[in-house]
Parts: sequence; structure tokens; C-alpha cells
Amino acid sequence: MAQRMSRLQERFIRRIAAQGPLTIADFMVAALLDPDDGYYTRATPLGDEAGRGGDFVTAPEISQVFGELLGLWCLEAWQRLGQPAPFHLIELGPGRGTLMADVLRTLALLPDCRAAAEVHLVEASPRLAAIQAETLSGVAVTWHKTLDQVLSGPSILLANELFDALPIRQFERSPEGWRERLVVRDGEGGLTIALSGPLPPSLLPDDLDAAPEGAVFEVSLPAETLAGQIAGRLAADPGAAVIIDYGYAARPWKGSLQAVAGHQRVAPLTRPGQVDLTAQVDFSALVRAADAVEAHGPVSQRQLLLALGLEERCAGLQQGLVQEAADKVAAACQRLIDPEGMGSQFLALSLQTPGLESPAGFPLPR
Ligand code: SAH
Repeated sequence: MAQRMSRLQERFIRRIAAQGPLTIADFMVAALLDPDDGYYTRATPLGDEAGRGGDFVTAPEISQVFGELLGLWCLEAWQRLGQPAPFHLIELGPGRGTLMADVLRTLALLPDCRAAAEVHLVEASPRLAAIQAETLSGVAVTWHKTLDQVLSGPSILLANELFDALPIRQFERSPEGWRERLVVRDGEGGLTIALSGPLPPSLLPDDLDAAPEGAVFEVSLPAETLAGQIAGRLAADPGAAVIIDYGYAARPWKGSLQAVAGHQRVAPLTRPGQVDLTAQVDFSALVRAADAVEAHGPVSQRQLLLALGLEERCAGLQQGLVQEAADKVAAACQRLIDPEGMGSQFLALSLQTPGLESPAGFPLPR
């Protein structure tokens, strides 16, 4: 493993020597998805709810309640869409396949809906696709590398913690104006951040006046492109999407690139390919990119899950359990809606074909 790590690092050093500094987006793409040495190509990212194995844990791995409530959301969306049969049930970035398994179990509450659902998983990592195939054995699934490979038609889309893995670029306000933060060599065989020259204002968004000196903002072109593609689908055929991720609705003016390994925060530029890299999602940018359709939210994950019936489902699961097991179920549910943690840090946005009723758990359109 150490050899692998140094191989990707060495490749970065050679690439920077040949081509000059890299944008953070260039760095993220290669560190996460390089076909030989990228993190999602080689690693086993997701651990279980106890934090065993993997590098990080996601909501569907914490409690089955997360996927079951999103399953209820899908059932309700299907009815609102006029019960299309068949329809595409599309998940973007499905991880271990746990969320889809929990959603499908819940869809079976309405056998017509379950029968109408054609499952499409959009996954960049062959390694994770293989794990998804195991989790979903017995289910007819079609895998795709990108969303545009999924044929047109009515669809319900889910994406949990996918957008945070998409590459960002970072810009910092200096006394001379905005500069891009770039990845360069540090002179000791490692990588570090350096600022570009000042950028012409014509290249920058026009809402930057409020930024104090030293402020950083982030842009993810792939995230905006994907939100635009989702909107394109939903504008062409009836459909609804829910996007959940950690992020913000108003720019925090600070960089959010982070790396984790073994459930610990680590420095983002060291050990490329061995650590997970993410950045907070700019939900306002997704809404702008999806202006062909109707956006609801973002609301906090806490607000969405409570509105979808988290407390009732949790109580249902606890029935008949011994105290210790019931306490575990409650603790996992609480973690999903913790106002100091996931409950407020994670936001949910719904996009849908204009003219439908509001999606379950979301307020009226913006
Ligand atoms: N949704 C899952 C997994 C989140 S981890 C959960 O909640 O547990 C991020 C997932 O997105 C992984 O499956 C990863 O392989 C996938 N992924 C990362 N970048 C991607 C890209 N550009 N296109 C498609 N999938 C991607």
C-alpha cells in the first residue's frame, strides 16, 4: 500500500514538473478516480455503523431507518408522478448498495410500485459496483458510469453523499484581488498549496463583494453540470430527485476541502489515493444549475427525516427488542438527526418536474 501511495504522489510531482501547478479539482479527480491508484479504485471507503473498517460512515450505514424513510419518500413521489410504470429508480454514488436495498424493501409495501421500478446505479468505481452487486444480489440492476447513459423516461433519483466527492476549485481573496489556490511541489517531495496570480474579475462570479480579505470560495463545475443533467431529465419526463449532503445554502467564505482516513481527519494533500477527499456542497449553486425545474429546500436532514416519520419508525423497530438493542436503535436514529451533528450539517434538496405537488418533507418551491 505504501508503495502505491508513493506511486500516485510521484506521478503528481512529475505532472506538476511537466505541466505546472494543478487546480484542486485536477488533484481531486486523480486522487479519487485514477484508474490505477485512485482512492475509489483501490480503497474500501465505507465502514459500518460502529466505525469498524473503512474510512468513513454514511447515514444508510448508521441506520436502516434512513433508507426506509427515503423509500417512503420514493413511494410518495411515485404516486405524485401518477404511478408511472415502468420508471427508472436511479441512485447516484450508491456506496455499498445499502441505501438502495433499504429503499427497495420499503417500495415493496406497494407491490405495483416495486414492480414498476427499474433500478439504475450510477457508480464510477468498479470496486464499489462489485460490492453493490453483492448487497443487491437477486435484484435486476443496471450499472452506469455517468447519468447520461441512463435512457430517458420517468424517474426518481437519489444521491446521498455523492456531490461532496465531486471536484472543487478554490479561490482566495488577497489584497490584490482573487487568486486561485493551486497544488504545487513543496521542495521536499511533497505537495502544498500556492496562490496563482490575481485573476481578472471577468472570470469570477459577480456576488463576491461581501467577501472579507482572506475569504475563500469554492466552485464545483462537475456538481453544477450534474445538477443540470438531473434537471434536464426531470424537465423532459416526469420525475423527482432528492439530493442529501453536507453543505451550505450561503457561502461560508472558507475552504471546506477535507480528507479522512480510518475515521480521522488528515491533511488533504498527503497520501493521495489513500484518503477520502470531500468538500461541502454549495446547494445554492445546485439550485441555480437546475433552474429548468422546481427546487424545494434545502432543508436540514433533521427536518426531512422527522417529517418523514423517523420517530415512529424508530419506535416500531424498537418493539420487542431487549433494552440494550432498543437503545442502540434509538442512538443510531438520534445520530441521523443530531442538531449538533449530521442533523444540521447535512442538507436535503429536492428537484422535480414543475407543476407537481410539493414533495414529502419539503416546503413549497423557492
Ligand atoms: N451514497 C452512499 C455512498 C457515498 S460515498 C452512502 O450514502 O453510503 C460516494 C459514492 O460516490 C461512492 O459510491 C463513490 O464510488 C461514488 N462516486 C464518487 N465519485 C463519483 C463520480 N464522479 N461519479 C459516480 N460515482 C461517484
